[in-house]
Amino acid sequence: MTSADLILKNANQVITLAGTSDRPLKGIDTNTLNIIEGGDVAVKDGLILEVGKDLQIGSDKVIDCTGKTVMPGFVDPHTHLIFAGSRENELGMKLEGKTYLEILAAGGGIQRSMGATRKADKAQLMTEAKKRLDTMLLFGTTTVEAKSGYGLNRDHEIKILEVIQALDETHPIDLIPTFMGAHSIPPEHKGNPDGFIDLMISMLPGISEMKLAEFCDIFCEKNVFTREQSERLLRAAQEHGLGAKIHADEIENLGGSDLAAEIGAISAEHLAVTNDMQMKKMGDAGVIGVLLPGTPYALMEEHYPRARAMIENGMALALATDLNPNCWTESMQFIISLACYNLKMTPEEAVVGATINAAHAINRSRVVGSIEAGKQADIIVLDIPNYEHLPYHFGVNHVETVIKKGDIVVYDSRPVF
Ligand SMILES: [Zn+2]
Repeated sequence: MTSADLILKNANQVITLAGTSDRPLKGIDTNTLNIIEGGDVAVKDGLILEVGKDLQIGSDKVIDCTGKTVMPGFVDPHTHLIFAGSRENELGMKLEGKTYLEILAAGGGIQRSMGATRKADKAQLMTEAKKRLDTMLLFGTTTVEAKSGYGLNRDHEIKILEVIQALDETHPIDLIPTFMGAHSIPPEHKGNPDGFIDLMISMLPGISEMKLAEFCDIFCEKNVFTREQSERLLRAAQEHGLGAKIHADEIENLGGSDLAAEIGAISAEHLAVTNDMQMKKMGDAGVIGVLLPGTPYALMEEHYPRARAMIENGMALALATDLNPNCWTESMQFIISLACYNLKMTPEEAVVGATINAAHAINRSRVVGSIEAGKQADIIVLDIPNYEHLPYHFGVNHVETVIKKGDIVVYDSRPVF
């Protein structure tokens, strides 16, 4: 009899998402999830060995999953993980009705976080971000995209990218780095956004050579960067081998999503005020919509992305936390709930958005995002009888066991890494 390092036995549901690695999923239903009832998963050498019912494989380590749900670890494809300080003081301003752009203009928002992040050394940034990663792991997230963007000059942006690299090497969670120096215009470039874009472009060769980022992202927004500036930076990034991502149509529609389609960006983020034509254009171009329902929630905004219209217009959708000092959650489970209750996504669409489509959005669909033989063994066990409980029973952590690259890193809801 073959033997495995670990076997997950007799899960009420194994959400395999088998056969979904080739392209981002559209038209999702229960069949897409490819569920095995009463299923087993065998793990060997960090990879998934076999998935099925009553596997005839031995192992010294067996986890009984009776009554539980087994699924791929969550992939969080959009976070601003590295920052210093916090901004809880802005809640009062939001309650008084101040908008995001008003808070920014008053020296709050990204500017405030930039000040704290520039002051922080690498050790402090590592300590603060590690705590967030630990929480993410406890909540079942096993792969995280992390953007720079609170340094806003050469030295501090590089410092942040190096912190991401160091955390990737030392933490069980895999980090996918994105250079987002063009997150805001720093005070020293006020009134000269084009000069700032020039500076960001001049950093690309070094970032590419040092392999400090896989993607480049920009905040295309009123009072931040125009569509033209975004195009200039992202095309330069592509020439240096970085994939393009863009924060588009979050507050005002500047045509960032048209740009995403035209330059073949891997994803466009936020999309709260995107119109139907733009959705169709992105659907046709294969741009994945990364939706961040935590952000309008935290900003108390009425505009949630129109996920249903995006799906009708042929877009594949992924979900992410957008973890940042303005929208601070580590929980993809909470995001799945918001996606269903506020974006009207179905539980199936939300599960796909938080796993395989999220993996597609960061070019990791061949490695993670589904439970299939040969894939990396990033698996979570949830103490719920079926996946519908994920959005339905919200505000708590259902994750009991987390397996990362075949190792048990969370057991009985406690860290063991
Ligand atoms: Zn963001």
